[in-house]
Amino acid sequence: MKLISQSDEIKECISVGGRELFRKETCRMMAGPCAVESREQILLTAEKLADMGIKIFRAGAFKPRTNPYAFQGSHSEGLKWLEEVRNTYGMKIITETSDITNFDEVADVTDIIQIGAKAMYDHSVLEAAGKSKKPVLLKRHFGATVEEMFKMADYMLLQGNRQIMFCERGIRTFENSSRFTLDLCGAEVIKQKTRAPLILDPSHAMGYSFGVPDIAMACTAFGCGGIMIEVHHNPEEALCDKEQALSLEQFKILFENMKEIGKAIGKVVE
Ligand code: PEP
Ligand code: MN
Repeated sequence: MKLISQSDEIKECISVGGRELFRKETCRMMAGPCAVESREQILLTAEKLADMGIKIFRAGAFKPRTNPYAFQGSHSEGLKWLEEVRNTYGMKIITETSDITNFDEVADVTDIIQIGAKAMYDHSVLEAAGKSKKPVLLKRHFGATVEEMFKMADYMLLQGNRQIMFCERGIRTFENSSRFTLDLCGAEVIKQKTRAPLILDPSHAMGYSFGVPDIAMACTAFGCGGIMIEVHHNPEEALCDKEQALSLEQFKILFENMKEIGKAIGKVVE
């Protein structure tokens, strides 16, 4: 049986807040910290990224952490600061829903609903995201095959949403010198089998900032609809995923390099 994920019904271009931000000829950058920590952190980071030309700001207010003693996010208050980012800098927001209990408040604020790797199998979240009219970024679970991700996406598509993007963010392998293993072979299969934009996430795959720029440049050359990068104004003090966060300075250089690489394959990195 052919999945809707793999049919012509799924959207190739994704409109965010009335603007076609994901198009075939574009590699769209989504950047920001892992977590919404404080109002100051969010506004400062957003201001610097907006100055660099970033149009989509990422940050999680609800963080589904493995460690129950780690910072879990700033929750509803954090969502207000994200709204402030949109109102102040005109950036679009992508933020994650960790489970159905926070789905509605996240969906009310965000421009793109992010369903994290751990929530990829959460049927209640998928059903709610399917009923929503907003674009969705579905991250591949680190133990899921590409085919399983497509099947889970169909739970949303069956509810009527056609604006779905697929994100490869690293899978678990025997290799433990990096946090996960970025599965570019699987990513190529995603490219071949669906029209929906492929998004690559070098930050979570690598897990260490020293590798993120080179992998991000390789991802640009690979050809994809977008790239998501974690950036912190002071990585050493980050409350979530600090080891993989790029500083604003590192990110600025990387973004410029990616634009050059994009030209070689006919993609505008923006
Ligand atoms: C994130 O984007 O910060 C995140 C939690 O990613 P993932 O769901 O891929 O682990
Ligand atoms: Mn993170």
